[in-house]
Amino acid sequence: MDTTETINIIDGKARALEVREALKIEVDKLKAEDKITPGLAVVLVGEDPASAVYVRNKSKACEKAGIESFKHTLSAETAEDELLALIDELNKDSRIDGILVQLPLPGHIDEDKVIEAITPEKDVDGFHPFNVGKLMTGKPVFESCTPLGIMDLIASTGIELKGKDAVVIGRSNIVGKPMAMMLLAEHATVTIVHSRTQNLPEKVRGADVIVAAVGIANFVKGDWVKEGAVVIDVGINRLDDGTLTGDVDFAEVSQKASAITPVPGGVGPMTIAMLLKNTVKSAKRRIAKK
Ligand code: NDP
Repeated sequence: MDTTETINIIDGKARALEVREALKIEVDKLKAEDKITPGLAVVLVGEDPASAVYVRNKSKACEKAGIESFKHTLSAETAEDELLALIDELNKDSRIDGILVQLPLPGHIDEDKVIEAITPEKDVDGFHPFNVGKLMTGKPVFESCTPLGIMDLIASTGIELKGKDAVVIGRSNIVGKPMAMMLLAEHATVTIVHSRTQNLPEKVRGADVIVAAVGIANFVKGDWVKEGAVVIDVGINRLDDGTLTGDVDFAEVSQKASAITPVPGGVGPMTIAMLLKNTVKSAKRRIAKK
């Protein structure tokens, strides 16, 4: 049976493009009416090839949206103090609305210290404890880009989150935890499961919305998923043959889900779109303060 017509695939690539096009219009307006160009500083430390690709993609996306990108590439041997001094400079630079330090950093640099050195006003990644706390108290300023993009994708399915049961698989600071907070803010009943959870499939089975952020290829199986659930696959796993796959067994789960994100082409493109969105938001806050 050809099931491709009945599977409701959430097209993150197309939605991200829409968001970016809308941002371009906003940026053009900011340039014309307020005479400001939003600016994003992107800092890369070391030569990790995956990080280099992410940074290149972010800079390119900025350019396309009319956002000025300031790229700083530092060697893997850069001392922590040197990186902190650069962040201090970027904090003070009035052309810059957002600062992104590509993670992971080399082992000799304390990531928490670096994240905390970025002024919360320019923390467009939403990783600073101030912004994490604001999210927690229901008064978010900058929210972590990946879960923010996921909320947009969930909204695009038309599902009303109020009163629904959501399960988030994974509890990282950049995906799982902020994801749970955002779903809670929309009045879902949220369960977070992780590597120490007992009877994990049982807990997933009750969910109307499933967000998988585990980092294990094809982890979520078809018989863990309730008929009609919305399934969001955050995972990016490279298989031995070089192909990318998510944390959800797409072939099985797509037979049960009412909507599902593919990998690639689901959550990934939304992360960058939300980074640009946060940068434009920061630029508008700059204008409001003038
Ligand atoms: P982390 O490694 O930081 O967290 C993984 C989480 O999964 C942990 O909470 C861990 O539990 C849990 N976990 C690991 N093994 C199991 C298991 N066997 N059973 C249940 N839970 C388990 O990963 P991230 O959150 O940073 O990323 C998750 C995935 O999403 C990765 O594939 C990553 O590449 C991808 N990603 C994609 C992004 C995008 O833009 N599309 C952005 C960010 C991440 P515990 O806490 O107990 O160890």
